[in-house]
Amino acid sequence: MRVAFIGLGHMGGPMSRRLAEAGLDLTVFDLDAARAAPALERGARLAGSAADAASGADVLFTMLPTPTAVEEVMLGAAGALDALPAGALWIDMSTSSPAVADRVRARGEGRGIRVLDAPVAGMSTGAATGTLEIFVGGEAADVAVARPVLEHLGDPERIFHVGGHGAGYVVKLMLNLLWFDQLVAIAEVLTIGARAGVDLGVLHTALAEGPTTSRLLAHDMLPLLTRGEYEEGFTMALAAKDLRLAVDLARVAGVPAELSAVVEQLFARTRAAFGDDAGEMTPVRLYEETAGIRLRLPAEEEQAA
Ligand code: NAD
Repeated sequence: MRVAFIGLGHMGGPMSRRLAEAGLDLTVFDLDAARAAPALERGARLAGSAADAASGADVLFTMLPTPTAVEEVMLGAAGALDALPAGALWIDMSTSSPAVADRVRARGEGRGIRVLDAPVAGMSTGAATGTLEIFVGGEAADVAVARPVLEHLGDPERIFHVGGHGAGYVVKLMLNLLWFDQLVAIAEVLTIGARAGVDLGVLHTALAEGPTTSRLLAHDMLPLLTRGEYEEGFTMALAAKDLRLAVDLARVAGVPAELSAVVEQLFARTRAAFGDDAGEMTPVRLYEETAGIRLRLPAEEEQAA
């Protein structure tokens, strides 16, 4: 099986490295050729364009930042779709929009191009260790073909076929939307409680061990609360993109989303204040700076969790 991989950033870099390490016949491409180094060092070939990468591939992966980039890579001038052999399988692992994938699918249908959406959760550490959670949308027969390759990237127990075309994108966007909504709620609650004079450790333990607990509150926020890490591996630019896609989905589905609209604006304010490359937990910093405090716990709290 000849495999191509386009988009070698925080996620695609380690993912393509894993595919090369697994010994697959792999060709990679990124606008920034330097990003290909980890895969090239392990035997992959470097293509000169998206079309060059796609020509001759049985399976093409994309891991790109935005729906616009996905559309450009697949349908743009010297795009990948027209270069794919008839019957090839395109697997988009980007957090993107069902509408873009629908356009690609419509144009590839005549040549039997098969399409799966397979966005992921698990951050760049999950990408590096092959423990991503993967939400796959599309035909069951194509999922069966993709699964052995996906198992180099994700935890086999957590590769979920969640429905037809586009369902993977929807599940991933709802996962991120709930995470963003929770992050803002937690930032607000911790800031109020700390400013009202309660010890942050006491407050955190009470909330994390009570009915309000979540993995984000009890565990995933600890690097921020103990060491001030705002998770630069996932940028505000990407978080803002995911929020826009999620709120757009709500609009298309005809569901009012007042809470998420406020959260989207809080992320927009954070991005304006701290920049595109600030980490995804930076909205907490917005609350910290507004209240003139830092939400910090002693390092032992992280070891104890
Ligand atoms: P990134 O910005 O680090 O990497 C994107 C890569 O795509 C870059 O190397 C860029 O040069 C390349 N690229 C952009 N346009 C291109 C084009 N036209 N042709 C070829 N290459 C192009 O992004 P990332 O953090 O790796 O995220 C990729 C996708 O995965 C996004 O959709 C993101 O929402 C999703 N995601 C990210 C994380 C995370 O923790 N970073 C977690 C889950 C999902």
